[in-house]
Amino acid sequence: MTDGPLTYADLAGFDVTAVSALASQPKKVARLRELGIDTILDLVTTYPRRHIDRSREASIRELVPGDQAMVVGKVARISSRRTRGRPPRTLVTAEVGDGTGYLRISFFNQGWREKQLPPGTEAVFFGKVDTFQGRLQMANPVVDFIGDKTGRIIPLYPQSEKPRITSEDVAGWIATALGKTRARGLAEPLPEEYRKEWGLIGRSDALWGIHAPEAMADVTAARTRLVFDELLRVQVALVLRKRALERTAKGIVHDTSGDLVGRFHEALPYPLTGAQRRVIDEITHDLGGPHPMHRLLQGDVGAGKTVVAVSALLVAIQGGHQGALMAPTEVLAEQHFLGIRDLLADLRVAGDPEEGSLFEGMTEDRPLRVELLTNRTTAANRRKLAEALADGSVDLLIGTHALIEDAVAFRSLGVVVIDEQHRFGVEQRDALRQKGAEGATPDVLVMTATPIPRTAAMTVYGDLDVSVLDELPPGRTPIRTRWVEAAADDDDATAEVWGHVRAEVAAGRQAYVVCPLVEESEKLEVSSAQETHDRLAATELSGLRLGLLHGRMPSADKEAVMAAFRAGDLDVLVATTVIEVGVDVPNATVMVILDADRFGIAQLHQLRGRVGRGADASTCWLVGAGTTPDGRARLEAMVRTTDGFELAEVDLDLRGEGTLMGERQKGRNDLKLASLRRDRVWVERARQVAFDLIDGDPDLSGHPALRDEVGAFLADEDADFLLKS
Ligand code: ADP
Ligand code: MG
Repeated sequence: MTDGPLTYADLAGFDVTAVSALASQPKKVARLRELGIDTILDLVTTYPRRHIDRSREASIRELVPGDQAMVVGKVARISSRRTRGRPPRTLVTAEVGDGTGYLRISFFNQGWREKQLPPGTEAVFFGKVDTFQGRLQMANPVVDFIGDKTGRIIPLYPQSEKPRITSEDVAGWIATALGKTRARGLAEPLPEEYRKEWGLIGRSDALWGIHAPEAMADVTAARTRLVFDELLRVQVALVLRKRALERTAKGIVHDTSGDLVGRFHEALPYPLTGAQRRVIDEITHDLGGPHPMHRLLQGDVGAGKTVVAVSALLVAIQGGHQGALMAPTEVLAEQHFLGIRDLLADLRVAGDPEEGSLFEGMTEDRPLRVELLTNRTTAANRRKLAEALADGSVDLLIGTHALIEDAVAFRSLGVVVIDEQHRFGVEQRDALRQKGAEGATPDVLVMTATPIPRTAAMTVYGDLDVSVLDELPPGRTPIRTRWVEAAADDDDATAEVWGHVRAEVAAGRQAYVVCPLVEESEKLEVSSAQETHDRLAATELSGLRLGLLHGRMPSADKEAVMAAFRAGDLDVLVATTVIEVGVDVPNATVMVILDADRFGIAQLHQLRGRVGRGADASTCWLVGAGTTPDGRARLEAMVRTTDGFELAEVDLDLRGEGTLMGERQKGRNDLKLASLRRDRVWVERARQVAFDLIDGDPDLSGHPALRDEVGAFLADEDADFLLKS
């Protein structure tokens, strides 16, 4: 190690026990490790949850009702009792004094506060001041402990109960750790020109500024810089990855002049939308080029992604290669299989010239062959399929992640489409890409069934190029969405819903009923779906022709039920979420979703997208009691808009980026401070800087501090792959 300024990679090389106060506290160290804090780097990037600005402290005497105030005081008395209302609630009341007066603090249904705040405790209370029986009070304030800190700005860190680790402990350890960096200083990974351009403070100032600020303005500037750094690391990793693939992978130059795609388009019962044509052109351009395509296709439900995907697959097939389509679940794979097989039913492709035969050089054409591979495919069929894939007689393989198993070998895999709905990670995409013939990397198109906001897409899919299908096919009538605020079995409240279903059926149309979600087990979900079906058949929907569809049915039965519904032999399809994607019956005009507040926004949006596919006006009924704030927010958003991008924003708001990043960004490059929503301009700036830096310095050898730091946050294999010179 040199004596230059310390990089993040250097800090990652010191164990937390380098802080002497920790060296003698194995229990606390063990707890820190549980929390993912192993090194000095982890420690100094453990940020305060928030900061208390004691200069804004109010004295009790000066409080005015209606104020949002922060009071620092000592608990004089505290007691709890049950209220008389229905249902009875626990009410804890405390008297808090600060030398200028006393304030009444009350907590509803927080019985534990009595133990938390014994008389004598000093704490900070944030909340709205109002009056109660002529006295000032604060109801349900936020409470924080600051001990006997006297600084003006006090950082509050995440704490732990067992073993007890207080905010002050954490602050102390971090101060020690930062103090140790003083001698050598901290390396600055970001070139000055960018700091100037965006008005960012230096790295060292930022770390000190967030942990030991002198004023709230320090915190703001520090946060901005650290947010930028987090986003920049993610973007640098993604852009490195994108460029490395472009550099190292040899792609297939596809035959984009063949007529198979054109014949497919001509056979469609409708003209392509402008957006479909534009996106197909973008893809075709990639496919005809020497670099492997690596593209994300975003489009709202019903935008017509299937036709685009199939067009890409056909480009591979018309040049004598094979295509593969991977779906996240068996049901989806099966549905894609059925739908695509129908779409391609009449297409023929050139056969293989038979060597040495009389007709050598001349080829017979043959039907295009589509096959399905899932975990349900029997061993015997798998063997047959393996042969047919290896000799090239299967043109298109559709399946689940069974496709990426080692035993599956294509003769010449040309294009891969991944219909992923956020469920596949980078690793799986890579595994499929490895399936190409020796030295040739297949082109990859990733489709998301749920649009995600632009900045989120840049982060989650930042190693891909992006195409957007931003136009729905013409002739769709907007879907009306109604929320019935009641439990699924509340007969009075749902009478209107079932009356509407009956009326639509009487008018010759059809309906879907989606059963309550049972997350615990698929088996339970099936029995609950059966129950819903039987109940409706016996009561509200008696006399109508009901079908039942769930994921555990044998494929043949599923196909039969779907065929009957499509043919109009069933009026109502009672189903689990298996109908989420791929089901397309234009005559269906009613969607009823039971216990809708338990579904995620993306899922609700997908389900609703099953109706509104024909010329008749459609209705989506959301039945749900809305007992949680998030559940209510989801249903309100669904009623407000049918725009997938807008819903995606709401979803991001409610769930936070953590869930979105999910499996995708494993390792240590988690965003701790950055929010893809609040900090969206910084996402774009970071991406721009990442491209700028890497295109001028592909392995970042001229930016060693940044290079080291990105390496420290990446998994080892990735670092090797992305940063090798
Ligand atoms: P997505 O997968 O994007 O949700 P699909 O590919 O399932 O959408 O297409 C939705 C429906 O729109 C299907 O019924 C499909 O046949 C139809 N469709 C697709 N493209 C067009 C078009 N250009 N004009 C009219 N209908 C179309
Ligand atoms: Mg689709």
